[in-house]
Formats: sequence, C-alpha cells, structure tokens
Amino acid sequence: MSELAYPYEAPASQALFDRAAAVTPGGVNSPVRAFRAVGGTPRFMVSGSGPYLTDADGREYVDLVCSWGPMILGHAHPEVIAAVQEAVARGTSFGTPAEGEVALAEAMVERVAPLEEVRLVSSGTEATMSAIRLARGFTQRTKVIKFAGCYHGHVDSLLAAAGSGVATFALPDTPGVTGAQASDTIVLPYNDLEAVHAAFAAHPGEIACVITEASPGNMGVVPPLPGFNQGLKDACAANGALFVSDEVMTGFRTSRAGWYGVEGVVPDLMTFGKVMGGGFPAAAFGGRADVMAHLAPAGPVYQAGTLSGNPVATAAGLAQLRLLDDAAYETVDAVSAQIQGLVTEALAKEGVAHTLQTASNMFSVFFTDRPVRNYEDAKAQESFRFTAFFHSLLSHGVYLPPSSFESWFVSTAHDERAVQRIADALPAAARAAAEATA
Ligand code: PLP
Repeated sequence: MSELAYPYEAPASQALFDRAAAVTPGGVNSPVRAFRAVGGTPRFMVSGSGPYLTDADGREYVDLVCSWGPMILGHAHPEVIAAVQEAVARGTSFGTPAEGEVALAEAMVERVAPLEEVRLVSSGTEATMSAIRLARGFTQRTKVIKFAGCYHGHVDSLLAAAGSGVATFALPDTPGVTGAQASDTIVLPYNDLEAVHAAFAAHPGEIACVITEASPGNMGVVPPLPGFNQGLKDACAANGALFVSDEVMTGFRTSRAGWYGVEGVVPDLMTFGKVMGGGFPAAAFGGRADVMAHLAPAGPVYQAGTLSGNPVATAAGLAQLRLLDDAAYETVDAVSAQIQGLVTEALAKEGVAHTLQTASNMFSVFFTDRPVRNYEDAKAQESFRFTAFFHSLLSHGVYLPPSSFESWFVSTAHDERAVQRIADALPAAARAAAEATA
C-alpha cells in the first residue's frame, strides 16, 4: 500500500455508494459503473476539467473513459460550457421545433455523406431501437442479424450476445426479454461473412436488416477485417435488406465523419450518440431519404420523444461538432498513439502477453498474445491481469474503463502533463499485471 500514490480506500465514494445502494439497484444508474468486473469502490466524481476527473475524496485522475466517448474535447470545455449557458438561459425545453435541432442535423448531414436525413432522439438505445423499427417497417420483414459482442444499447431484441456491460455481467439472455423478442434476432460471430451469407440463405425474404457496430468497441476494440463491412453492405443489397451501421461510439470520434470517414462503406441507416451530444442526452438515427420518409409524420412508422432535440443538448452538441475540425482529430489521434506506445512498452518490459487493438483513436488492451477478431477471442483473454492493471493505475491517479471489454477514450485535452501521469503510473501497473494470478 505504501508505494501507492493514493491510499486504496475511497471513504467519501464508499459513503456515497452505500447511500446509493439503499435507493438504487446496485447503487448505480448504469451497471458498468459499479466496478463489479474489477471489484472495489466505484469512484463518485464531483467535477471534471480537461483530461481530469476529481472524485468525492478530492483525488484527481487522468480520465481514459471520457464519459464512454462523448467528452472528446475534455471535460468542461469553455466554449461548450458557454454555449450551454447561453442555451439554458433561454429555457430548457419547449416541446416545439427549435432552430438548434435544425442546425445540429445540418452539421451532421454536412459531415457524413450517407446521412441524407436525421431524426434526433435522446439516447443511443433509442436510436438503434428506432432504426430497427424503421428497417422492419420499410422492408415489411421481421428478422434482424446482429453480431456477438456488438452492443447496441439495451434494446430488448438486441440484448442477445451483446458486449459491454452485458459481456461483463455475462447476461447473454437477460430476464425480461421474451423468447418472441429474441427469436427474431439472429446472432452471428463477428467478422464472419460466411455466417452472414448462410443466414440470408436460410431465411430468404425474412431479414429486415443487418446491424453492426461500425467498428466494435463494446467487446474491447475489435475492428472489422478489411472488406467485412462492404461484404455486409453487399449481402444486404443482394437480399433486399438494409445495412444499419451503429456509429453511436465511433461517430464524430474516429474521424470527422466517424467510421464512415475511415472506411467509406455507405450504410442505408446509421445511428449516433455520445460525441454529437457534447455530454448531454442527444442521439440520432438517419440515412437514406427514401427510407427516412417512412418515419412519422412523413410516413407510417411511429417514433417520437418529449425531449428529442432538446435545446440545451443540441447547443452542446453543435458547439462540440463546430470545434471538432481536422486539427482536433489530429490531436486526439496523436495523443492516442502516444498512450498506446507507452502501454505497449510498459507491458512488453514486464513480459505481459497482450494485444493492443485500435480503431483510429479508440483502442484497448487484451491480455492475450493472439489477435482478437470476435467475441470468443475477446473472452479468451486473461481478464484477471486487467483487474490488477486497472487497480494499480487507479491508485496512481489514472482512470481506465472498469472492464477489459471496453474501449479506452482520449480527448484533445490530454496534454503532456496528463500523458506524463500515465507514463509514470504504467510501470507499476504492468508489474501488477505480470504478477497477477487467476
Ligand atoms: N450503440 C453503441 C455502439 C454503443 O456503444 C452504445 C452505448 O455505449 C449504445 C448503442 C447505446 O447508447 P446509450 O448508452 O446512449 O443508450
């Protein structure tokens, strides 16, 4: 303990966690926050500034979670905060159309060529749920193909072999999802086009869409093999199904135009969240205008939301997108590469078997020496080493995602001081990973 920069205990966070547990299931409002995969006391954060978070015990951490992706400019970016303050002062919700939602939709359409029309919603879950409903309404078909390890939010029919918190909690078929809901979902191994062709052959005229994370980050970072997304697109086109690319995590993060900007495969529908909301609850789905024309009130497929296009959320999202120019992506990519290099160096020095995988500036470390191409590969890693690595870093003021099945995220605010903090913490963490036992 004495070698740790911070004592392991977190009394103020623990007190809050105890209070929370009395009124909230498991003490948290989203399962992964409870630290169940790594154990210990979840840190209750009280403030964020640039690359840092400060917890209830007054300790500062370099944040490598960035709110699971949204905070690509760092916490409390002054221009985003100013836009929010200006919007808040004009009122927080009108229940009418407002210019901010038009401006945000325009900014998204301008950046992502396949996005001809957009509908704003409040969470990534709503976006994928609505995209699936629209795909079914448009094609008049019922079945959906998804991939094991891809997480698309907690949509009933998509909570089958999902990654993320579901990977952590091993709830492949969560209670509460009926057999009927799951029976229209076909779950296939990721990066396996043969399986996709076989599924189309087995269900002619039944498959409404294939949904995939544009580049998965919810089983750790497992990028598509070259040609995989294009193969999905082609298989959908050949079989009258829609190709739905879930860019909730990658959108406006992996490039100015998200993963589409990296790979150029044109989906029929796309989903977004995280970065486009600037830290507020804003998300979206969109794509081909002829498909989107089936959405109410233009068409028969119903979809709605009291807070959809909320003026404060759209102001934050728009401010963030406006600041995300080419230079900003260069900065995020460069700092990500720098941290990747430090992690690899530290683990290699201690002889820890690991595979670092990237999707532009998203990355994660698998504690295995084999490449990870799908969920089965991801599950084969030595997660106990991650636990030791995580807690060592946490105790030295570096906050990683509390699960080995998650992407790490950086921001434009991760400057030299923040990177140095990580560099200083890594040798002990790599040693802890090397010494860990199952
Ligand atoms: N889709 C992907 C790829 C995600 O990573 C997530 C959340 O992490 C979602 C959908 C669900 O988004 P939300 O948590 O905003 O409902």
